[in-house]
Amino acid sequence: MNVLDRFLRYVRIDTRADEASASCPSTPGQLVLQRLLEGELRAIGLADVELDANGYLMATVPATVDAEVPTIGFVAHVDTSPEMPGHGVTPLVHERWDGRDIVLPDDPSAVLRVSEQPDLAAQVGHDIVTASGLTLLGADDKAGVAAIVEAAAQLTARPDIPHGRIRLCFTPDEEIGRGADRFDVARFGADWAYTLDGGVRGELEFESFSADVMRVTFAGFNTHPGYAKGRMVNAIKAAARFVDRLPADRLAPERTGGYEGFVHPYQMEASVDRTSVRVLLRDFVTANLRDQQALVETIARAVAAETGTEAEIEVKEQYRNMREVLDRHPHVIERAREAIRRVGLTPIEKPIRGGTDGSRLSFMGLPTPNLFAGEHNFHSRLEWTSRQDLEAAVRVIVEIARV
Ligand SMILES: [Zn+2]
Repeated sequence: MNVLDRFLRYVRIDTRADEASASCPSTPGQLVLQRLLEGELRAIGLADVELDANGYLMATVPATVDAEVPTIGFVAHVDTSPEMPGHGVTPLVHERWDGRDIVLPDDPSAVLRVSEQPDLAAQVGHDIVTASGLTLLGADDKAGVAAIVEAAAQLTARPDIPHGRIRLCFTPDEEIGRGADRFDVARFGADWAYTLDGGVRGELEFESFSADVMRVTFAGFNTHPGYAKGRMVNAIKAAARFVDRLPADRLAPERTGGYEGFVHPYQMEASVDRTSVRVLLRDFVTANLRDQQALVETIARAVAAETGTEAEIEVKEQYRNMREVLDRHPHVIERAREAIRRVGLTPIEKPIRGGTDGSRLSFMGLPTPNLFAGEHNFHSRLEWTSRQDLEAAVRVIVEIARV
C-alpha cells in the first residue's frame, strides 16, 4: 500500500456535499468513505479510532517519546464540491508523463494544455493523476486525506522516528462551509493543527479573508400593473439601482487581487413586493469590514429614500482572518516552514482570498494554517494531482511530527 493506492481508492467513492441537506454529513457517501477510513486506521494500528455521530473521524498516533511535547493535529475533508459531477470517478494515472497535452478520454474537449497549465508543465516525468473527463477528480481534498493516512501508517511502522502524540481528523461538508460546525476541538485535544488542503508543493497558507455576509431587502408595494398608476412601488427597480451604485472600479472581485478586499453582490431574490440582494464583504483587515458595511448601508438607505421603498439590512459574521490567531503562535508557522525546507522544498506563502475550515478552527481555539496536498484545478473536470505531490505532502507531515 502506498499513498497513491490510497488516493485512487478514495476518489472512487462519491462524496459530493449537498447544501440543500440539513443532515450532517449532508450526504451518505461521505459516511461510506469515513467507514472505509475507519477500517484502514484500525488496520494501521492507530489508537482512539472514533467516528462520531456527526461523521467526524478522529484517531491518534501515540507518541514515541516520553518527554512532554505538544500534540499536533492534521485535518482534511472527505467531501467534494457539489458544483461538479462526482459520481463514477475513474482516476487515470499518466505514468512518467511525457509533457504532451493530456486529452481526457471520456470527453475529448477536456484537455489539459501544457501552455495553459504552468504547474503541470513543471511536472514532466511525474506520475500525473486525472479523472476521465466527465467528473471532478476529488484531489480536493482526498489528496489531503491520503497523505495524512499514509503519514500515520509510516509513523506507526517506524517507531524510531521521535514524535509526540499526533491527532488526525477527517471532516465532512467543508465545501458547503460546515466543516468546522461540529468539530469537537476539546475532544480532538491538539495544541494546534494543519489542514492539508492546498495546491503546489511547498505551499503554506496562514492568512485568509475576514468575511461577513449582508442581506439588503427592499420592500415595495405591488398592485395589478394595469391599475398601478401612483400606487405601485417596484422593489426590483430599487434593488437594481442599489446594485448599480456599488463600487465598480474598486472593491469589486473582478477588479481586485492580492491583499485588496471587496464588496460582492452575488445572489438576488426578486419580486415587485420584496427584493433582497445578498452581498459578501471581504477584507484581510477585520476592522475594514465595518467600513464596507457602512458603505453598503449608506447606498441602500439613499436608494430607499429615492424610490419610496423600505430597506431592511441584516449582517451575519462568516469567518475571520486566521492570521489574527496565528500571529500569537508563530512557532506553528515556523515548524511548517522548517519541515518544508527539510524535505528539499521552498515554502510558498501567500494569502488565501477566501476562507478555510482552519479560519474557523483557529478562532475555536485550534490554530490551524493550511498546507499543500497537491490539488490543482480544483472544482473542475481538469483537476489533477501527481504521485510526487502526494509523496511530498506525506514527507512534510512526517517532518512536522518529528521532534
Ligand atoms: Zn478543499
